[in-house]
Amino acid sequence: MESVILPCKSIFPIISELPQNYHPKPKIPINYVEPRFTDTQLNYLCTNGRLSEAIHAIESISQYGYKVKPETFSKLIESCINERALHFGRKLHKKMRFLLEKVDPFIETKLLGMYSKCGSLQEAYQVFDEMHERDLFAWSAMIGACSRDSRWGEVMDLLYMMMGDGVVPDSFLFPKILQACANCADFKTGMLIHSIVIRCGMSSEIRVSNSLLSVYAKCGLLSCAKRLFESMEMRDTVSWNSIIMAYCHKGDIVEARRLLNLMRLEGVEPGLITWNILIASYNQLGRCDEALEVMKEMEGNGIIPDVFTWTCLISGLAQHNRNGQAIEFFQQMIANAVRPSEVTLTSTVSACAALKDLRKGRELHSLVVKLGYDGEVIVGNAMVDLYSKCGKLEAARLVFDMIPEKDVYSWNSMIGGYCQAGYCGKAYDLFMRMHEFEVSPNVITWNVLISGHMQNGDEDQALDLFWRMEKDGSIERDAASWNSLIAGHLQNGQKDKALVIFRKMQSFGFKPNAVTILSILPACADLISAKKVKEIHCCVLRCNLENDLSVANSLIDTYSKSGSIKYSKAISDGMSTKDIISWNTLIAGYVLHSCSSEAIKLFHQMKEAGLKPNRGTFSSVISSYGLAKMVEEGKRMFSSMSEEYRIVPGLEHCVAMVDLYGRSGKLEEAIDFIDNMTMEHDISLWGALLTASRVHGNLNLAIHAGEQLLKLDPGNVVIYQLLLQLYVLRGTSEESVTVMRPRKRNHHEESLISWSWTEINNVVHAFASGQQSNSEVPDSWIKRKEAKAEGSSSCNRLCVTEEENEDITRVHSEKLALSFALINSPQSSRVIRIVKNLRMCEDCHRTAKLVSQKYEREIYIHDSKCLHHFKDGYCSCGNYW
Ligand SMILES: [Zn+2]
Ligand SMILES: [Zn+2]
Repeated sequence: MESVILPCKSIFPIISELPQNYHPKPKIPINYVEPRFTDTQLNYLCTNGRLSEAIHAIESISQYGYKVKPETFSKLIESCINERALHFGRKLHKKMRFLLEKVDPFIETKLLGMYSKCGSLQEAYQVFDEMHERDLFAWSAMIGACSRDSRWGEVMDLLYMMMGDGVVPDSFLFPKILQACANCADFKTGMLIHSIVIRCGMSSEIRVSNSLLSVYAKCGLLSCAKRLFESMEMRDTVSWNSIIMAYCHKGDIVEARRLLNLMRLEGVEPGLITWNILIASYNQLGRCDEALEVMKEMEGNGIIPDVFTWTCLISGLAQHNRNGQAIEFFQQMIANAVRPSEVTLTSTVSACAALKDLRKGRELHSLVVKLGYDGEVIVGNAMVDLYSKCGKLEAARLVFDMIPEKDVYSWNSMIGGYCQAGYCGKAYDLFMRMHEFEVSPNVITWNVLISGHMQNGDEDQALDLFWRMEKDGSIERDAASWNSLIAGHLQNGQKDKALVIFRKMQSFGFKPNAVTILSILPACADLISAKKVKEIHCCVLRCNLENDLSVANSLIDTYSKSGSIKYSKAISDGMSTKDIISWNTLIAGYVLHSCSSEAIKLFHQMKEAGLKPNRGTFSSVISSYGLAKMVEEGKRMFSSMSEEYRIVPGLEHCVAMVDLYGRSGKLEEAIDFIDNMTMEHDISLWGALLTASRVHGNLNLAIHAGEQLLKLDPGNVVIYQLLLQLYVLRGTSEESVTVMRPRKRNHHEESLISWSWTEINNVVHAFASGQQSNSEVPDSWIKRKEAKAEGSSSCNRLCVTEEENEDITRVHSEKLALSFALINSPQSSRVIRIVKNLRMCEDCHRTAKLVSQKYEREIYIHDSKCLHHFKDGYCSCGNYW
């Protein structure tokens, strides 16, 4: 019997520890432990944080069949909860039936709560399942347990079971259930509860109403939310926040803003959360400037921005490519002594990565370490990305290795870093090691590897990975996987292969997305890809991408460059919204097609639509005035750029001005303009002057321009040849020529070969000057025609050509292409499109005009200088090229 008492003695408090109202009973018999005395002891131990001793005592007490009071047992459970001592709780649970006279639902509910609060939902469920009777408290505890674990679906199941048992929630339980409704987007149950709430007469309980409001707001039922909100007798900040949030979710920020003002009029001051909702919403919509205004207003109202406010602004700016500002705001935040969160740091590090700002990035890194965020995986991933983008792969790897629990994004960042730097082997090694860390590659990992290998020219390995990903990796390919291949081929100059993949992608049932279209369309921006542009356009329509602004803009551009300006206009006319790029692209298209009046008309329409012209607009518009020979208007436009629009003219605007003077024969003004320029001259500038002086027969100026050109580009054989011809015209012998002959003789011969290409029935045919023509008839026809047209050349232009003159054995390539197209192109096609690598000569230009008249064909020839559109015997270039 001694042994029974011993443990009790051992835990018996020493006198000094005893509470003041403690009066020990005198003398107890050795074989008897009075339960009430034990209760007092246990209570004392619990209150003084000596739980383990209490549990130890309980074990002995139960062994000998003694009981404790329910209050004591409850107190013990409470202590287990406070100390999160699940193992002690389990011991109590095991002894419960021995220690208590009767187990009542109150104790069981308490036990259930203990399990859930100590993180064992499964055991909580066990207790719940074993209960004989479940009252509102038991249900509330079980529902509370599930909502604590965010198991919203289970909360809903419990609710229906509970109502089946005839138990009705009270005003404390309703908010929990409604929270589950909101998180499951189960608005039907929400509405059901709403009707119960009304029947129970609880609709005036603000806690309940606010929870209902939040269900409607989160489920996007704006009209229900609005009705409920308006019917509420009392509204507190929480109610206002919910309704404002509801409008923000719907993107109706104007109404949200109005409500905030109304809130203040009704005497409820917006709190930090209210302001933050509005600020976050502006940022999500990319309206960062307005977000900033709201923040200033909030500060004006005496509310200090917290870390959430700052983080919203910083990540909003970073996501909308305003990285410099994002970093500035971060610095302001630090200056305001607000401690950044890991999200703030991640956004700021990403901003540095986008700017490749290594210095700031390093500063941030040390701050990350100082604040103890270096173990956070999202911050680590952003740092890996930063160092990779800045080309500091060793630092990236160091950070990567230090991330304690790497997720798939960590691996993707590091693998991506190696790929970008061209170390595909290292990237692949890392990829193979992922399984050692029990991380499975995702579709991004595979795509990063595929595009990495493509970019580094390892097409075979890329394709191998592409086909292996489904079989070996059990990862389904997505549009981005196909896009990696397409973009890779395009980058390697393999347009045809890219198109094959593009078609294969569709035959495999994948819908190309905007990224696909935006990568493949520009590759088709030439005259021989006109049909492919239409094919891609059809695909755009099938995939419903025609409303994507960038896609539509790219179509306008590609159609115009492939010789179909009509389609460009049709696309532009069909657009519901247009940005400055849409306008500029179409204006530039008209300039390319020498349609000056359309370009100028569009420019005025654009201004009427309220858009401010930018640099791109101005160079096109000045060129349009040049085409229209409207020198004064062009000059005014040039000066209005800086005076009215505060845009400093760039080289492209100066070139357009030289062209403007040149086309109108104002060569002196052109050379004056060049002389007065402050910026450095370049090839395009002197090229424009050379064209002008050649067309207007000013030999000396042409030689001056040619010499300047050769100075800027000493290796250019074409210019060298032109210059020699000009010297001959002036009567200077080749020996006295002062300019240097281009060094590489081989290069010279190679690059002077003139090539022309045309596409017929989906096959591109290439022709080189002097090549044996495989179509005798039109060839000889053309020669006959030309003989007749002789003498029709009556201009004072300087007869210099970029390639050798034609003779009996040598016919220029565009003529070969033209005759081939005339014979072989289908009768239905009235348009012939040819691309040439050198500038057309006078003879070929004349021939093309004749053919367009005689055969009633439209002929587009894009040479190295401009796009010629021959129709009815005329060319759009107005003989100026
Ligand atoms: Zn020619
Ligand atoms: Zn022309």
